[in-house]
Amino acid sequence: MSDGTETPAQLVAAAVAAGLGAVAITDHDSSAGWSEAFAAAEGTGLTVIPGMELSTFFGWKSVHLLAYLFDPTNAALVAETTKIRDARLKRAENIVLRIAADYDFTWLDVLAQTTVGATVGRPHIADALVARGYVATRSAAFESILHPRAGYFEPHYAPDPLVAIKLVVAAGGVPVLAHPGTRGREEVIPEHKLAKLAEAGLFGVEVDHRDNTPSGKERLRELAATYGLQMTGSSDYHGAGKPNRLAENSTRPEVLERLIERGTGTEPFRG
Ligand code: AMP
Repeated sequence: MSDGTETPAQLVAAAVAAGLGAVAITDHDSSAGWSEAFAAAEGTGLTVIPGMELSTFFGWKSVHLLAYLFDPTNAALVAETTKIRDARLKRAENIVLRIAADYDFTWLDVLAQTTVGATVGRPHIADALVARGYVATRSAAFESILHPRAGYFEPHYAPDPLVAIKLVVAAGGVPVLAHPGTRGREEVIPEHKLAKLAEAGLFGVEVDHRDNTPSGKERLRELAATYGLQMTGSSDYHGAGKPNRLAENSTRPEVLERLIERGTGTEPFRG
């Protein structure tokens, strides 16, 4: 719903076709895709774990927080995700204005690539740049015009991960740091910060993800052992928008069971 190239129903069909027993739907800063995913899973035998990938910032570093099984009507969490989504929209408009100074490009180009309920961000600007013929693929746009060093980039408001974890836990959800090892072991979140996140109810760290480096994964395993965190895995599938293939990484069944036990905000949907 936020920025994948498939609808939630198509994602569920792809998960069934891939032979998965369970799949999580984790749009950026949005739970708008849950009901469509549940409806599509009905009668398939697939379990859908409703979730979200919350944007957070630790200082100037973007840190994504996976949140599973939270109450989607929790007022504080809804208010915070609304604030993030509004900030993302304004920021996307600003990026487009900067690009428009050098390219024949407008906000209408981006709107044409945006579906109702999308969390508007660089993926949609990337698709618009592809449609205009300035770059060949979404990934090529991220590596060139949309790269933070290209001169058009702007960050957006997002809460500190500690604030986000507290909100998720208060909404009955289960927080997991999304691929925190993409820059190698030295760049994994500092241990003093992770200790605070663990204390606030962080459930786990996503270890098996294609962007985590081998040394990043090694560090995450060490930290998980020290702080009693669970280790998850996921494909971070975005349809055709990213090279990631569905089920290329997954979470062990016993970890999933613990995650389900921990979540109190919503039940998994057992189709
Ligand atoms: P933004 O949050 O607007 O700065 O955009 C970054 C987000 O775009 C990441 O969280 C990715 O999940 C998403 N994304 C989708 N497709 C791609 C891609 N091909 N390359 C990099 N990021 C992508």
